[in-house]
Amino acid sequence: MSRVDLLNEICRLSGAMEVIDPQVGWPGLVRVNLGGRAQRVALHVSNVSTHARAPHERRFQNPGNRTPVSAPRGYLPVLCGLAQVGQLPIVVAINGRSRVGREARFSILFNVSILQTAAHSGWAEYTSNAGEVITAMDPRLLPAFVDAVQHGVSLDPMAVQDAADAFDLVDDRDNEAGERARVVVSRLVRKATFGRDVCDAYSRQCAMCGLGLNVLEGAHIFPAGIPGSSDEIWNGLALCRNHHRLFDRHEIWIDPHSRDLRLHPRLYQAQRNEADTNFVENTLPNISLPGQVRHHPRPEMFVSRYANAAGEYEWVV
Ligand SMILES: [Zn+2]
Repeated sequence: MSRVDLLNEICRLSGAMEVIDPQVGWPGLVRVNLGGRAQRVALHVSNVSTHARAPHERRFQNPGNRTPVSAPRGYLPVLCGLAQVGQLPIVVAINGRSRVGREARFSILFNVSILQTAAHSGWAEYTSNAGEVITAMDPRLLPAFVDAVQHGVSLDPMAVQDAADAFDLVDDRDNEAGERARVVVSRLVRKATFGRDVCDAYSRQCAMCGLGLNVLEGAHIFPAGIPGSSDEIWNGLALCRNHHRLFDRHEIWIDPHSRDLRLHPRLYQAQRNEADTNFVENTLPNISLPGQVRHHPRPEMFVSRYANAAGEYEWVV
């Protein structure tokens, strides 16, 4: 298939991408519809082929005729290959930003196993020796992949697979299943973007104990999904997994104004060993704040949290 035919085929399979200008397919200019928003992409397409010297590897390549990887202003460069697993089309894609300008022949190499995993679960990732993440997916999730690239976040493959599974994506080939899965995956993109931005604002340290170690999560103060909630940093706290869990269980209360922190009496009574005691003692008496004032948690977010969780904070007296 020519690159232009491939471009048209990938856009058709995606269910939410339209060709603006096919050019030569390396790249072709494409509009991706992301539920009310649009993202413009310079989509560089190729066939996926076998690799004679390494039977477990597959690859796709640039044209090798001095046509560089490129993206006009306002377009996101994405490189992608189309493969077939049995009857199922699978797309393999990478963020093309680090390859812009490259025109010498190169190959995107990956293990064939990600094609098989994507064929039965909708999504799979492979990290190359150079640290490049290569994602194989049901073509209907390519718009969601573009959304993640645009926000500069990586998605948890298991969470995406769960979304694909919830909508029976692999067995239900129509675009409606794809659209429902895309809505869920774009929620994952928003969650990942929020988590990264909140953790960055708190200098990647738990606001309740200072722990870093790359085990941080962005916690919503007023929970996501409730009308009035927000993905702004002022509705977030960077928390280690343990403090996040206790916060979600309503066993930590923070004064909306002084930001003093209180632990549920249960956590004092439940201590069984030194680790328990250390955890409680290492919890700060008031939360640490982000460096920038505009990122500080807003008191009304705490007030809304407590009002929404009726009865859960009766232990606070
Ligand atoms: Zn912590």
